[in-house]
Amino acid sequence: MIDIHTHFFYEGGHTESFQNEADLARGAPVKLTVSAAEFDAAMQPVDRAIVLACRALRVGMHQDNNVIARFAARSPAKYVAFAGIDPCEENFMDELEHCLGDLKMRGVKLLPMYAGFDPRDTRLNPLYERCTREKLPVLFHSGTTFCRDAPLRFTKPTLWEEVAERFPDLKMVLAHLGHPWEHEMVALIRKQPNIWTDVSALHYRPWQFYNSLMLVQEYGVWNKLLFGSDFPVTTPQAQAQGMRALNKMLEGTRLPRLNMDAIEQVIERDSFKLLGI
Ligand SMILES: [Zn+2]
Repeated sequence: MIDIHTHFFYEGGHTESFQNEADLARGAPVKLTVSAAEFDAAMQPVDRAIVLACRALRVGMHQDNNVIARFAARSPAKYVAFAGIDPCEENFMDELEHCLGDLKMRGVKLLPMYAGFDPRDTRLNPLYERCTREKLPVLFHSGTTFCRDAPLRFTKPTLWEEVAERFPDLKMVLAHLGHPWEHEMVALIRKQPNIWTDVSALHYRPWQFYNSLMLVQEYGVWNKLLFGSDFPVTTPQAQAQGMRALNKMLEGTRLPRLNMDAIEQVIERDSFKLLGI
């Protein structure tokens, strides 16, 4: 099992107001901050994992790429770190240079709605060019979030069609099936060979997830789904179990079933190979 979407939320990597908004959204205190031991324990069932650094200063995420790179380097055979870049920061290309050159990070994480930018913004051209040239994947947050100051206008999946038109060889992963705009995501991944989506942090809304995966099934795009958890939001184990349990919800009904073989293939997919990591 490969988890392409994890975070190491360490003490001091985000502001108190970000934590407060997460608590408000959940209706109870959310434990975002985890220790290295807790992280490793949660990742026991997976063979490899991508640890995504998060920088979106607008909403109070200011993780240090050095910390995330060092964290992943404890187990280089298992963990791969992606650089957290906020293009609203003046010297973001210098930071990218540092992440790729000095820290040997293997991809980039961007958070358009959290940081307050449009993924089509031409400011990003040098980053997209560099990642295309060096065959580095870019993983974006897509779909909604709880933060009040994160504009919805920067997150709907169809925005990325223009990025793919301008950078057709750039490998992009749009997270969370673009929820709740999964219909846009399905349309996009069907026609764009270098865009994938991940299923992270969706299993705890089972009715919505079932409907989203029915869209995936009916449009024939199971092959474009990558497995991820969004740890510490949930764990890879819970995410896999949640996917395997979806059809159980339908017992006693004649509703169409999800293809369990296709679900197993998502859980076992070699995403590192697909993304060229
Ligand atoms: Zn995430």
